[in-house]
Amino acid sequence: MRAIQIVSPGRIEQVEIPAPLPSRDQLLVAVRACGVCRTDLHLLDGEVSIPHPPVVPGHQIVATIVAAGPEQSGGETLAPGTRVGIPWLGWTCGKCRYCLTGRENLCDFARFTGRDIDGGFAEFAVVDRRFCFPLPESYSDLDVAPLLCAGLIGYRALRLAGDGERLGLYGFGSSAHIVTQVARAQGRSVFAFTREGDTRTQEFARGLGAEWAGGSLEKPPVELDCAIIFAAVGELIPAALSAVCKGGVVVCAGIHMSAIPSFSYDLLWGERVVRSVANLTRRDAEEFLELAAQQPIHTHVSRYELAAAPQALEDLRHGRFEGAAVIDLAVSS
Ligand SMILES: [Zn+2]
Ligand SMILES: [Zn+2]
Repeated sequence: MRAIQIVSPGRIEQVEIPAPLPSRDQLLVAVRACGVCRTDLHLLDGEVSIPHPPVVPGHQIVATIVAAGPEQSGGETLAPGTRVGIPWLGWTCGKCRYCLTGRENLCDFARFTGRDIDGGFAEFAVVDRRFCFPLPESYSDLDVAPLLCAGLIGYRALRLAGDGERLGLYGFGSSAHIVTQVARAQGRSVFAFTREGDTRTQEFARGLGAEWAGGSLEKPPVELDCAIIFAAVGELIPAALSAVCKGGVVVCAGIHMSAIPSFSYDLLWGERVVRSVANLTRRDAEEFLELAAQQPIHTHVSRYELAAAPQALEDLRHGRFEGAAVIDLAVSS
């Protein structure tokens, strides 16, 4: 099969490798589409390490089940031909104290799709059947792919940000463009922060219902109740803290961030909170996909063929598209 592999930091290439074989509790799936995430870029740049390179990146996989492995440990089995989504959380131990307390996103032994397990920048993948999810039929393959990380992690971050009405979003990419729609439907006001002078993205944010859009170091017109930082820029933490009101929550949604500059305690005083959000639980996936089935989310997608995956990552790095990039496996290149 054709696949894209990250071989070492900075080195990504297209290869021909044997299609993987499913073992116990695994499914062989044919990939139809796979979303591109900033985490893929962190993996390529070595900012998030890959334990056993080379690895096929991609953890927003839309695929069709081809076959099940030889042994299954009981429970529900999805039939061949079913369309499923496969997110970042690829496997958890089920036994550690995090797994046993409803926090499998923090599992000590978790394995992540596209980092520990080969991901979806390939024609086929092998996935654990307990970590894949039927997808709402109302979405096309390309449109649903960004929901599987940008949407899911964005949804978890939104929940952890609390119920505040005035929500700031720092970094207006794939996740923010989905979260804006969810937050608007919940009756919240959205304030979008982009790179300085990025009027095109600010326009895009307003088009999705943001009440205000401006540069990331600008002061919004009102105090915010909460903020989510999607951009991997440590300077945004003091910026967001200075934009939220007393009791405000700042959630860092990315897996990597540059160093956080020191800042005056005044910015944190008044019961302001800074926290990160890490990974997802299967419950997050079920809840969010259920929500997406009921509330149509319009993803703005830029399509790339498999061979163009390295280009998609560079375009993401330089902010050359709005919304999400998705690798389309339905077209052979
Ligand atoms: Zn991701
Ligand atoms: Zn565990």
